[in-house]
Amino acid sequence: MKKYVISLDSGTTSNRAVIFDQELNIKGIAQQEFQQIYPKPGWVEHDANEIWQTQYKVLQDVFDQNQVTPEEVAGIGITNQRETTIIWDRKSGEPVFNAIVWQDRRTAEYCEQLKKEGNIDKIRQKTGLVIDAYFSGTKIKWILDHVEGVRERAERGELSFGTVETWLVWNLTLGRLHISDVSNASRTMLFNIHSLEWDDELLNLLDIPKSLMPDVVDSSEVYGIVHSKVLSGNIPISGMAGDQQASLFGQLCFEKGMVKNTYGTGCFVMMNTGDQPELSSESLIATIGWKIGNNIQYATEGSIFVGGALVQWLRDSLKIVQSAPEIEALAQEVDDNGGVVIVPAFAGLGAPHWDQFARGTMFGITRATTPAHIARATLEAIALQVKDAIDVMKETSGLEIKSLKVDGGASVNDLLMHIQSDLLGIEVVRPAITETTALGAALLAGLAVGFWKDLNDIKNRWKVDRTFSPKPLKNHDEIVRYWQKALDRTKNWLDN
Ligand code: ADP
Repeated sequence: MKKYVISLDSGTTSNRAVIFDQELNIKGIAQQEFQQIYPKPGWVEHDANEIWQTQYKVLQDVFDQNQVTPEEVAGIGITNQRETTIIWDRKSGEPVFNAIVWQDRRTAEYCEQLKKEGNIDKIRQKTGLVIDAYFSGTKIKWILDHVEGVRERAERGELSFGTVETWLVWNLTLGRLHISDVSNASRTMLFNIHSLEWDDELLNLLDIPKSLMPDVVDSSEVYGIVHSKVLSGNIPISGMAGDQQASLFGQLCFEKGMVKNTYGTGCFVMMNTGDQPELSSESLIATIGWKIGNNIQYATEGSIFVGGALVQWLRDSLKIVQSAPEIEALAQEVDDNGGVVIVPAFAGLGAPHWDQFARGTMFGITRATTPAHIARATLEAIALQVKDAIDVMKETSGLEIKSLKVDGGASVNDLLMHIQSDLLGIEVVRPAITETTALGAALLAGLAVGFWKDLNDIKNRWKVDRTFSPKPLKNHDEIVRYWQKALDRTKNWLDN
């Protein structure tokens, strides 16, 4: 009797295994952190073996701690930190180098060169992406160019490349499967999001042998089973998606115009754009959401660098709150921001403004300014950044946006959700299960094995915690106008 689906949620700092039942309740979670390696400023690596070992450990733990047996599991879904790049030996399974993490900037200079050589439009049209060190392509090239003997071995066809889901499946099947799903493939800067194939021209441009590349598969289908030496029970591996795409799916944003935002350290806004990529905006990237059978859904994405991190700064540096949740009560002490506007451009501005020379600012301070005004302005700053990204999505796609689905650590803040709803003029919907990334991977896996019949079956079981309807904020227009003014004065702050 199959009672559960398991999601492997392989994040940037920790790996988790989450058991879901058919009613979409969480039956159990196991989690383990792994080491962050910083060899030089701007470089970030993980030990690929440690990623696999901690993921395997939490998978075993989640069974043991919840008295669940592999025989009760209908399928395993995987969601993962995206773009992080691993190359390993096909025979021994040994990585040839540490995993180069998405945050790693070591290829930034090469990316500038690619831009100067006139590749911006070509890469945008083919992959939906801007040229950036963030994506896997230039990281692969770096390993081939810098690790001794690797290029020769790659040219002899002895090596495999994968992002983290590829690596986990390889290990779960003891090397039988070398696959990546379309959503993860679309983050490599090497994948043609129209033809759904590795792009020969881009592989040539970056001088990457095609033999390295995994087979690209759908986001929800039975790829194979977990090898019996790894786990008993013949569990199918049947769903995969990158973390943000999995969250979009877990938020049930199945139709075009549906949007979700994750309020974590940063904010990740994603909108379903239907069966066509939206390539007209230069400030957002286009990506594949998922593919299930013949149904492909594209998405646009905006990353905002500082979201909940602004609250952390109030807590850890200004010390005007002792814990993040306290900010809500503090901000409630006043009924407006008292003229204070904060632009949290701690590390420049991300989507949709993209200004690496901007730095954080606080405007409008008077002798009457209190910590409560700063708290209020903090919540407004988070919501205004999200609004700006969604406004661009709306303009460029021409789609009507009816509501915003929310998750992430700061989404528990009711005042923030109220401010967000008012500023956007739409409903903000917070689900009962905010573990939407893990849920999305579980849903993709469960759909493929018939654990859930179809999307309607899932919709009927998905529960809302709370819906926030737009209610006028005091000084709404002023907030928006002064935010715009503050942004203009913040941009291009540093001397280039
Ligand atoms: P990540 O996955 O990026 O580590 P989380 O989703 O765990 O982030 O969210 C943590 C962030 O949310 C922190 O930056 C924290 O400051 C913020 N946060 C947590 N609770 C609240 C709250 N009640 N109000 C506002 N921000 C909060």
